[in-house]
Parts: sequence; structure tokens; C-alpha cells
Amino acid sequence: MAIEKTVIVLGGGIVGICSALALMEGGLKVVLIDKQEPGQGASYGNAGVISPWSVVPQSIPGLWRYLPGWLLNSDGPIAIRPGYLPKLLPWGIKFLNQGTPEKIKRISEAMSTLNRSNVMLYRSLLRNTGNEHLITDSYYVHAFRQEHKIDVNSADYQFRKARGAVIERIGQQELRVLEPSLAKDFKGAVLIKGQARTLAPGEVGRVLLGKFLALGGTVLTENIQSLNPKNGGWKLTTTSQVHQSDTVVIAMGAWSAKLLQSLEIKVPLEAERGYHIRYPDSQTCLNHSVMDVDLKLVASSMSSGLRLAGTAEFTGLDRAPSEKRISSLISIAGKMIPSLKEQTPKTWMGTRPSMPDSLPCIGESKKHPGLFTAFGHGHCGFMMAPRTGELIAELVLGKSPSVDLDCFRPERFNS
Ligand SMILES: Cc1cc2nc3c(=O)[nH]c(=O)nc-3n(C[C@H](O)[C@H](O)[C@H](O)COP(=O)(O)OP(=O)(O)OC[C@H]3O[C@@H](n4cnc5c(N)ncnc54)[C@H](O)[C@@H]3O)c2cc1C
Repeated sequence: MAIEKTVIVLGGGIVGICSALALMEGGLKVVLIDKQEPGQGASYGNAGVISPWSVVPQSIPGLWRYLPGWLLNSDGPIAIRPGYLPKLLPWGIKFLNQGTPEKIKRISEAMSTLNRSNVMLYRSLLRNTGNEHLITDSYYVHAFRQEHKIDVNSADYQFRKARGAVIERIGQQELRVLEPSLAKDFKGAVLIKGQARTLAPGEVGRVLLGKFLALGGTVLTENIQSLNPKNGGWKLTTTSQVHQSDTVVIAMGAWSAKLLQSLEIKVPLEAERGYHIRYPDSQTCLNHSVMDVDLKLVASSMSSGLRLAGTAEFTGLDRAPSEKRISSLISIAGKMIPSLKEQTPKTWMGTRPSMPDSLPCIGESKKHPGLFTAFGHGHCGFMMAPRTGELIAELVLGKSPSVDLDCFRPERFNS
């Protein structure tokens, strides 16, 4: 018999959808609220990489040495809007402070907790939906232009190997056979095997949302304005109405921290914007997820065309996309896959919800029981979403979590 308790999930990105679905499957009544069609935020436009071996945090020892070069290069992987630096600085310091050998060991372990079963979980979520093809086996091909930089024993590959990843180095000729469309100046690659990729991240969200609705879940299109404690529960105000519930899950991606401000919960969540360009008419097809290691762009053939995604742009929330970044991406795409040079892509911008330690906030607020968080997944939110959903369901149902959640405490930067 279903337990009569309504949970409101705020935000219908892939993390909100997976959480809402897991809560429904746990026997709860669930309302999912988003201001737009669910699954359309960062969860729509990402690179679609699903890797059990994504265990390397963004902040690693010695990273600071590369930052000036990246920032000075207009085609570099990182951009900070002039004027935004003072705002970004406190987050940036916290970010760099996470890059110590001791800390990254702990972070890597926590990333593995969320990622190690991601391929299996997506396959299981899509089973019997008629959309199983949306997840396909893949290598992660890290393509290098400079041979001396190809080192399968570097720290980031060691981290992956320690978790069981099979990693192999291939030379120029083998790379040409594996991915004939890549530019000829790539000298070789590192293959990370045993991964998957999605052919349509937005479609995966849509299918899982369909499962949620079929189980009796409710979706409301409303713009969330504020959240306040009321009568031992929560009063949620949207532009359309006021909701009341004992239990609320915040899964609003990069917009989550703003909502928590009025509850005096400070979370160092940064909006890290990324872009993709998509070539719907391209005949070029890649066989795997391919990263141009120099330019940090990830390319993948998807059902809607060849997509190249990347860039970490810090400029705050809600600003218009940068035309400069887009033209830079187009130029990089042509260097990576020459057949794209003559074609005009569609463009997209989205916002990663990024924490300084590359770990999401998954837990119940210490200060406010009944308030759960599921946000901050940064570069890995698509692949971490299914396990996040399971953990949120365990927490809301009052079960002992199946893993130690200490690393994911929402208030961890305040204590
Ligand atoms: C270029 C790029 C490439 C990436 N590549 C990968 C990859 O290959 N693999 C991977 O695992 N991850 C990848 N990511 C990261 C991943 O996409 C994100 O971590 C993930 O999508 C975050 O999901 P989310 O549900 O937390 O947030 P979102 O998808 O952003 O969803 C948040 C939702 O909250 C809603 N919302 C916000 N404010 C309000 C409000 N006031 N009222 C109502 N609703 C609101 C939004 O409408 C949105 O639907 C990439 C990201 C980018 C940008």
C-alpha cells in the first residue's frame, strides 16, 4: 500500500527526474515542479558521456600552473567575464584548495560511489521502455596532438585504473582506423574502455519522465519563487500558487543555492556555463565519445547530429550566451573534425551546477529537517543522476543510506 506522503521535487533536470522517479518507486506521492519542460536545462545539452570511471575531480594538484595559459587563450577551455572575477574569487580559492593529494583521494572515492554503476543503472531504468538504444557502449577516446603528452601512467589515468578501468594507448594509425573523421594531426590516443554514451540526453530525460507520469507522478510548470518553513513543513511559493509539504527535494541545478539563501544556508555553488554546437546535417560519424585533449572539447554522434560540447565559462547566472565563445567553439570544431569546416551548426548554452570539490550536495539539511538537496553535480550530473535518485529515495524514506554520505553533506563547507 502506498504511503500517504507528498514529496515536492523542485527542478526537473535529469537529477530531479531520477529523484522523482525513485521516490515514486519507493511508494511516495511526488510532485515535480519546473519552470520549463523538464529535462531541458544542462541535462539536455551535455556531451552524453556515461563513465563508471569518472573519478577525477576538476581541481587537481598543480592545476593552477595551467590556468593563466588557458585564460589568456581566447580558444582556451576556461573563460571568466571581465568584472566577474571578484565574485568568483572565494569559490575559486575553495576550488584550488581542494586540489591536494589527500583531498582528491577522498573525492575520487566519493565520485566512484555515484558513478561506478551508472551504465548499469541507466540500462535498468530504460529497460522495457522501447528506448534502450538511447544508451550505447562506448570508449572514451582522449585524442592527443603531441605524442610526448600521451601517458597512460599519468595521475588521472592511474585514478581510473585503480577503480578497474581498462586503459590502452594507441598510435596514429590505430586512431585513424578507430575514428577516421578526426583531423590527421592527432598523433595518438588513450582509450578508456567499458563506458557508455547516450545518443540523446534530453530524450533520456523525457523517457524517464514518462515512467514517472505512468506511475502516477504529477508535473507542474511553475516558476519557483521562495521556500519558507511553515507549521513544521514547507511553504513553497511559485508564480502561480502556494504549495505546502513536509518534504521538499531541491534539485534546481545551478539555481539551487539562490533558493537556500533565504534559509540562511550558504552553499558555494557556482554557475559554470558550457556550450555545445551541433551539426544536424553532417554525414560525419564518430564511433565513440572523443575528447580533443588540447582544446578540451568532447564530440559525440547523437541522434540529432554530431555534437561538440565543452567550455567552462564563469559569468554568473542568467546572462546571454557569449557569441565569442560560440565562434571559438566553431573554429575548434573545424580543427578537430575538418569535414565540419564548411557547415553551419546549431548552438546551445547551459549551466553546470559546480561545487568547489566536484561533489554534489546530497543529503538532508541539518538545520532544516525535511529539506533534502540533490544538486551541484558539476561536470558529471548526467551520469551521476540515477544513483543520486536512489540515495534521495533512501533518505526521504528514512532508510539508512546504503553508502556513507558524509562527503555530500549540503552544509559541508560551513563546518
Ligand atoms: C557543455 C556541457 C557538457 C556536459 N557533459 C556531460 C557529460 O558528458 N556527462 C555528464 O554526466 N554530465 C555532463 N555535463 C553536466 C551535466 O549536464 C549537469 O551536471 C546536469 O545536467 C545537471 O543536472 P541538474 O538536473 O542538476 O540541472 P539542470 O539540468 O540544469 O536542471 C535544473 C532545472 O531546474 C529548473 N529551475 C531552475 N530554476 C527554477 C525555478 N525558479 N523554478 C522552477 N524550475 C527551476 C530548470 O528549469 C532546470 O530544468 C555537461 C554539462 C555541460 C554544460
